[in-house]
Amino acid sequence: MAFEQSLDQIDPATSEAIDHERERQESTLGMIASENHVSKAVLEAQGSVLTNKYAEGYPDNRYYGGCQYVDTPEELAIERAKALFGADHVNVQPHSGTQANMGVYFSVLEPGDKILSLSLSHGGHLSHGHDVNFSGQLYDVQQYEVDPETGYIDYDALHEQAEEFDPALVVSGSSAYPREFEYEQIGEIADAVGAYHLADIAHVTGLIAAGVHASPMDHAEFVTGSTHKTIRAGRGGMILCDEEYADDVDSAVFPGAQGGPLMHNVAGKAAGFAEAQTSEFESYAEQMVTNAKTLADVFTDRGLSLVSGGTDKHLLLVDLRESHPDITGKEAETLLSDVGIIVNKNTVPGETRSPMVTSGIRVGTPALTTRGLEEAEIETVGELIADVLDNPDDGDVHDRVASTVDQICDNFPVYE
Ligand SMILES: *Cc1c(COP(=O)(O)O)cnc(C)c1O
Repeated sequence: MAFEQSLDQIDPATSEAIDHERERQESTLGMIASENHVSKAVLEAQGSVLTNKYAEGYPDNRYYGGCQYVDTPEELAIERAKALFGADHVNVQPHSGTQANMGVYFSVLEPGDKILSLSLSHGGHLSHGHDVNFSGQLYDVQQYEVDPETGYIDYDALHEQAEEFDPALVVSGSSAYPREFEYEQIGEIADAVGAYHLADIAHVTGLIAAGVHASPMDHAEFVTGSTHKTIRAGRGGMILCDEEYADDVDSAVFPGAQGGPLMHNVAGKAAGFAEAQTSEFESYAEQMVTNAKTLADVFTDRGLSLVSGGTDKHLLLVDLRESHPDITGKEAETLLSDVGIIVNKNTVPGETRSPMVTSGIRVGTPALTTRGLEEAEIETVGELIADVLDNPDDGDVHDRVASTVDQICDNFPVYE
């Protein structure tokens, strides 16, 4: 019976693609700042029979029978997230970080309300009001930018802009801003103009859970995050909020924005959050930042410019315009990918090229840190990246770099 056959029997093409993807992850250095490798425990939870279960509603209050077991992982994920982030209320059902933001918008905004958020080309996110995203289509969005000179957010300028625009919601948080957000200052600005503050911690969930960065919980009514980035849990999103918004948030997520929750992913969140409560995870989070700072030092020594001059977190934004004016972000991405170093092209503040071309690359340390790379190896990786960018047409250099990448990958397997 087909039901008992394995994936390679039923669908050899998909099975092979998965094998190839596993091999690709093992044999390349993944430096996409939003990606990570989850543990075997999280993989096990996500690949479980929980995918079969409908559980519309919330623990102890479901629309379907047979929910006595799926309640457990959801309750555990909630309890653990409350402890990790110091939240009163947590919703772990959003299918992604974008859905989490949707849940917050739907809970307190009406279509047409004003949102003030960081511009995408300055590090923001599509779901913060970009016009190709529902958030830009439903709401009246104005964006703030970083200071073009310093690469930092200018909080005085932001305050002025907020006074003028009078938003209903101010969003902090980003995909490519290398500095820690001053959540307290943004919270004060939002208060001063009578707006809610949504802190989208998608990228820094792991750093905040481990106490490496301060939690925005005391300075924002709402905190959203992706659960598969630095925190390395099951894929998806979550919303944290004060108790007074709990009912609004829960009904905005279900039935407002979603149907049945992905219980296998919720279980993956529970497992990943359990790991995030260990002292090992704390060391991991610290090492991610140490590795990123190490990489920043190597890049700076090699003459690359970094937006804001460095980093406080797990990622760097390299602005190629001065050091390598003839190499676009897109070309850099391809050059590096050809030697087994995976990064993404990224717009930089003051960008003049299109988002499909760009003048920068974003480089992150979460996945390499999970593999066990520390300062010494990260220094090597930094030198390899600079070697490739300095010698874009030199096949010998590329061959040497590719073979060093192979060695590092062999020495630091992801899944033994
Ligand atoms: C990654 C990210 C999200 C959510 O992304 P999903 O792919 O929808 O999980 C939201 N906000 C920011 C700032 C992000 O970096």
